[in-house]
Formats: sequence, structure tokens, C-alpha cells
Amino acid sequence: MEPLTELQEALLDSLQRVVDREIAPIAQEMDETETFPTHLVKVFGEMGLMQARVPEEYGGPGLDLTTTCMAKELVARTSATGAQLINQNTISFVLPLLHFGTEEQRQKWLPLVAEGGVVSSVAITEPHAGSDVGAMKTRAVLDGDDYIVNGQKCFITMAPIADYITLFAKTSDSGKRGVDNISCFIVDMKSPGITIGGHEKMMGQRGTPHADIYFDNVRVPVANRMGEEGKGFLSCMHILDLNRPTVAATAVGLAQGAFDIAVAYAKDRKAFGRSIGDFQGVQFMLADMHIQIEAARALLYQCTRAIDAGRHDRLTEMASMVKCFCTDMAMKVTTDAVQILGGHGYVRGNHVERMMRDAKVLQIYEGTNQIQRLQIARRALGFR
Ligand SMILES: Cc1cc2nc3c(=O)[nH]c(=O)nc-3n(C[C@H](O)[C@H](O)[C@H](O)COP(=O)(O)OP(=O)(O)OC[C@H]3O[C@@H](n4cnc5c(N)ncnc54)[C@H](O)[C@@H]3O)c2cc1C
Repeated sequence: MEPLTELQEALLDSLQRVVDREIAPIAQEMDETETFPTHLVKVFGEMGLMQARVPEEYGGPGLDLTTTCMAKELVARTSATGAQLINQNTISFVLPLLHFGTEEQRQKWLPLVAEGGVVSSVAITEPHAGSDVGAMKTRAVLDGDDYIVNGQKCFITMAPIADYITLFAKTSDSGKRGVDNISCFIVDMKSPGITIGGHEKMMGQRGTPHADIYFDNVRVPVANRMGEEGKGFLSCMHILDLNRPTVAATAVGLAQGAFDIAVAYAKDRKAFGRSIGDFQGVQFMLADMHIQIEAARALLYQCTRAIDAGRHDRLTEMASMVKCFCTDMAMKVTTDAVQILGGHGYVRGNHVERMMRDAKVLQIYEGTNQIQRLQIARRALGFR
């Protein structure tokens, strides 16, 4: 690993103090009560972490992807729900604006996000269109200076508390499926015609709110469309590639958190008159967990540094590899941590049990790991 920069060292130091003070005492409670402490938006907004990637010229901290992932990893060691907030506005606001918004749109929205209090979500998935994004049915029909949106999105992270969403909707039926007919919009969640469904109860990351969003003749100004009409799908794929390492960062953090607990337990827990850490069977498990975490972390930061340096030639392939490798690793390591804690690891209310549930969704959202493997294999086979 390259040494930390002064900025990274200072940021991670103060972030650790915030995690110890604000997150660690409520990490279990957020999971058990399935409630999200909204004051954390203020906490992370004041640290510049909700808006980490907003460039300095728009009033943001302008953190690079590597530093953002380090911050996410650090928080995820204690709580995946807490880590969700780090960089929350990047995929749903900052990257779409930076990569295919107009300068006028950037000037309008980025300074607002840079203030730190804004929460945004990205709304792509529908009940019958997840991996198959091109199958989405939500429609945006042009009517004068507005589009009129009708449809439904599901599983939307932070929807119940979002101020804005980045919405993907069909704007025509012609052209190549998905590639030519999906557009992308910034939508104010206070717009008439939007309703939020009930809290969706998840297996893990229970403190994070998720919900359906319904659109009933919602008027969205043409000025809120980002990029060319019909080109939202390709843009969406590109920004998902750029953001995927942040999912991997949560995975590495969760695995490290579970590993640390497993090591402490292995030293402390006695069986047959010895610490269980004295048994080679347990030692080998711990060694494998450690190897996997270190390998995942190395791949993660190799990828983020390439992206930060503007080396995007293998972006899709690398982002998919990092997402798959780190999230599969987190599932395995958190499961092994539960194993090392034995029956105590299986009891609800135990940190490793929560971490194992939290890890599972990382293999599913932002493109399932099967879809990532398709991308990797297609490139290896020279299909595109
Ligand atoms: C907690 C949580 C938070 C989420 N947050 C958001 C959010 O904020 N915004 C948003 O838009 N979405 C969000 N999602 C949705 C998420 O991105 C989708 O669930 C995911 O993309 C998979 O879509 P799906 O559930 O429809 O599964 P499907 O696409 O129906 O897939 C079902 C299974 O089939 C496999 N499969 C599908 N196609 C192929 C193929 N071609 N080859 C091989 N296997 C395939 C999949 O890998 C999966 O195992 C969230 C989901 C969860 C659970």
C-alpha cells in the first residue's frame, strides 16, 4: 500500500473519532430498530463526506475516489449503514452532473450539494427491471417545457429522506433497446404526484431506509434532463462503473471489522483449557481471512488510483473485478467470523451477525455479481 497523504491521514484520524463518538454507540440499535438517525446527515455533511466528490470550484471538498473509498472503508468497519452516507450524493447527483450535465446545471446544483445537507438517491430499478435496465417501464413524455413522468421505482436507498433523485425513465420506444431510449433527470422529491411506499424491510443494512417511489403525472422541467434525450442508459453505465469501487470499499471495511472481532474473540475464548486461537484449525481460518482482506484492499486501491489518474482504458473490467472480488470476499470473511464466534456469533445483536447480513446485499446491488462476471468474461473473450 502506498503511504497515506497528509490530507488522508488527517481526515481518517478525525473520522475515526466521529465514528467512535457518533456511530459505534448506535450501530446495533440502528439495525435492531430499523431506524436511520437523520442527524448523521449533518455530521457527515459538516465533514464534507456526504458531498465528498464535489469539486472545489463548486464549493465542495473535491476528494478523489481513493480518499473517498478510504473514508467509506473506515466507517464500514463499524457500520455499513453509517458508511452508506459517505459519498451518498456521488452516484445520484455529482457524477451525472460532472460527466453529462451542462455547466448551467452544475452551477445550479453542485453548490447546493456542496453545502452538505442534501440527500439524494438514484432511481433505476423497477419491480420487473433490475439487471435488465432496458426493460424499465417508467415513462417521461415531453409536454412543452416539461416531461410528464409516470411509473414506479423500487428498492431505492434513502428514498424516504431524499430531497432529490436522479431518475432514469424511458423517453421513447424507438432505437436500440435501452441504448437509445432511456433518459436521465434530476427530480425534486417535493414535486406534486410523487409518493413514497412503505419502508422496505431488508435482511441487512436495516438502518438504511429503502422504499418504492411512485410517479403519477409528475412534471419535470426539460432543464432537469441530464445529457441528450435517450442517452441516459449509457451514461448510467459509465457512472456506475466509476462508483463501483465505493461498494467494494464498504465490503473491505465490513470484512476488516468482522475480522478484528474474530481475532479478539479467538484470543479470549477458551475451549479444552486453551484459547481457541491456539488451535491450528482456527488459526488457518484467521490467516485465510486476513489474506483475502489484504488482497481485496490491494485490488481496490489499485483500481481507485487508476481511476483518479484518469486511466479509464479498462474501467468497466476493473470496476467489475473489484466489485466482485471484494464483495464475495466480504461475504466469506463475515461468514467465517460468525463461525469463529460459534453459537455466540449466531445470536442476534452480535456485531458479526449484523455484518454478515450487511455484506450480502453488496453482492446484489449496483449490478449483481453475475452481471459483473458477464462484463469481465465478455472482455476476456473479446466480445466487446
Ligand atoms: C438493499 C438494496 C438497495 C438497493 N438500492 C437501490 C437504489 O438505490 N437504486 C436502484 O435503482 N436500485 C437499488 N437496488 C436494486 C438493485 O440494484 C437490484 O436489486 C439489482 O440490480 C438486481 O436486480 P433484481 O433485484 O431485479 O434482480 P434480477 O435482475 O431479477 O436478477 C435475479 C437473479 O438473476 C441473475 N441474472 C439476471 N440476469 C442475468 C444474466 N444475464 N446472467 C446471469 N445472471 C443473471 C441476477 O444476478 C440475480 O441473481 C437495491 C437493492 C437492494 C436489495
